[in-house]
Amino acid sequence: MDPQEGVTKALSHRDFSFWRTFENFCNLRIQTMTERDVMEFDVVIVGGGPSGMATAIHLKNLIERHNAEVEKTGQGEPIPGEVVLIEKAAEIGAHSISGAVMDPKGLDALIPDWRTMEPKAPVEAEVHDDYAIWLTENGGFKFPVTPPPLKNHGNFVISLNKMVKWLGGIAEQKGIQVFPGFPGAKLVREGDRVTGVQLQDAGVDKHGEQKGSFQAGGILAGKIVVLAEGSRGSMTKQLISDLKLEGQNPQVYGIGVKEVWEVPAGQCAPGLVVHTMGYPLDSQTFGGGWVYGMGQTEGGKNLVSIGLVVGLDYKDPTMDAHRQLQRMKLNPKIAAFLKGGKMLHYGAKSLPEGGLYSMPRNYGDGFVIVGDSAGLMNSMRLKGIHLAMRSGMLAAETAFQCLKKGDTSANATKEYWERMKNDWVHEELWQCRNFHQGFHKGRLMGLLNGGFAQFFGGKGFLFADNIKSPAGHTFMKTLGSYFKGKGKPKQEKLAQDGTLTFDKLTSVYSSGTMHEEDQPCHLVVTQPDLCSTRCVEEFGNPCQHFCPAAVYEMEEKPGTRHGVDLKINASNCVHCKTCDIMDPYQVINWVTPEGGGGPNYTNL
Ligand SMILES: Cc1cc2nc3c(=O)[nH]c(=O)nc-3n(C[C@H](O)[C@H](O)[C@H](O)COP(=O)(O)OP(=O)(O)OC[C@H]3O[C@@H](n4cnc5c(N)ncnc54)[C@H](O)[C@@H]3O)c2cc1C
Repeated sequence: MDPQEGVTKALSHRDFSFWRTFENFCNLRIQTMTERDVMEFDVVIVGGGPSGMATAIHLKNLIERHNAEVEKTGQGEPIPGEVVLIEKAAEIGAHSISGAVMDPKGLDALIPDWRTMEPKAPVEAEVHDDYAIWLTENGGFKFPVTPPPLKNHGNFVISLNKMVKWLGGIAEQKGIQVFPGFPGAKLVREGDRVTGVQLQDAGVDKHGEQKGSFQAGGILAGKIVVLAEGSRGSMTKQLISDLKLEGQNPQVYGIGVKEVWEVPAGQCAPGLVVHTMGYPLDSQTFGGGWVYGMGQTEGGKNLVSIGLVVGLDYKDPTMDAHRQLQRMKLNPKIAAFLKGGKMLHYGAKSLPEGGLYSMPRNYGDGFVIVGDSAGLMNSMRLKGIHLAMRSGMLAAETAFQCLKKGDTSANATKEYWERMKNDWVHEELWQCRNFHQGFHKGRLMGLLNGGFAQFFGGKGFLFADNIKSPAGHTFMKTLGSYFKGKGKPKQEKLAQDGTLTFDKLTSVYSSGTMHEEDQPCHLVVTQPDLCSTRCVEEFGNPCQHFCPAAVYEMEEKPGTRHGVDLKINASNCVHCKTCDIMDPYQVINWVTPEGGGGPNYTNL
């Protein structure tokens, strides 16, 4: 595509700030019809999570240091270093969700004095106690020793929303243009070279017609684009497919569902970290749960984080992670933590679980990919924040060198991967490179494999350097084959008492999710006929189950083959991307909705 297509004028980043202020305060929209304004930057960062923020902060630090040196010595050229970061959430942090126990390694590298600086880094509590429980349906037992990957002494319980917001403040202080409410819709390319990001149009109605408030999304042209979109990034997905950047294995994902509770004092000490295995998942399904003691809010509330991750390579077409979390809370060992408490917040998000061999090529002409978008998650430890931050720093160092040399070709951006290979990021991922794949032969084999890997350089019980595995959705069985000999698919009744357990709509309400209703559906089903025909027969419309936010519903429709048709409640979408990942026919494409739509996470 010609990046200049339909362009009438090029604006600088200063015009961009003006443009936004102008819109916000005068409540006017600039009518550009299909013309797209172009704003030029050195580096465009897409995504305001830990990886994007770390990229921005570290890059600015490097540029400041370099320019000061040039001024002092009179040698070399200063680097202008215009950096912009866009985020689809209305506010920085509003789409950030994590467990979250943070290994401080990443933050120590990025901001070495974070423990003492003002404003204070928002950590909830330092981990003082950790253990693991094996859950059965009505109880469970504590492991005599905590498995090494689940040891968390020295780590911190945090809220990722708060941490990311704090980082955003630092980035802004450094002069980075941070723009929440601006989703990147598509990458602008010249052949294989990424030259910028086209922002999502605003003011388009549900039929695709321009409303009075229409505003064509501008183009942010960048010498380098840093893709920090998190798990299953929509533009990253397209780029990986277009440029064939896939790793040796396809990426496999998990879905994490989480609640934050206020509980009576003393019921779950701040800094307590509990991991669970076993119930409610069966032995063929990867996953596990957690309970983390978060600490007290300013208003004196004692908060607890509780959640469950389910591998998105399960077999049961009726698997429902939200429901499994409700079942987990009914277990007396878990219910004890929540007794007398109140659920405050809910959220859900996918996470990349495939490890090192599922990582795509993370560099190319004019771009690098960081954090979860690049598959940098340690699934054995359920940790990615430190890796996301460190990868952002490595990307920043690469971008800085590229700007200095005036070379942003793939030859130059490859330095990012070279830096990573010599960094602790790679070392950590190497040790757990087969962890998730080991579970494809069942839970016992997975645990044995993971245990052995601790002592045999990541090779594990299966003694394979790389356990090959297909994409996660291919593991889902048809209703007929999954329930063969098990009777008709049925789900036992759950209390859903509104106190300990909740239905999906109540949960969605607790996520603060909102979208402009009159806009094109951002869940694009490319073959809608499949839903009311083959999918009813083969899989029983698993989207109704795997979506943790009740977006997909089969409503009665007389005259169709099975009397039902798909209804998409797009405004419920919490942006977890599970549908894009787990649909058995791969016909759901998640694209960014109009800016600012989505969940409004706090304390998650
Ligand atoms: C349930 C759950 C529990 C977890 N628990 C832990 C834990 O305890 N400890 C730990 O270390 N890690 C944990 N992780 C993993 C950790 O949260 C991630 O590894 C980390 O957040 C990745 O950071 P990131 O910046 O790469 O992506 P993200 O944090 O996902 O940030 C990406 C940002 O990009 C924005 N974005 C996406 N697309 C666009 C677009 N097109 N335009 C503009 N903006 C866009 C998103 O809104 C988001 O704000 C957990 C993850 C989940 C889901």
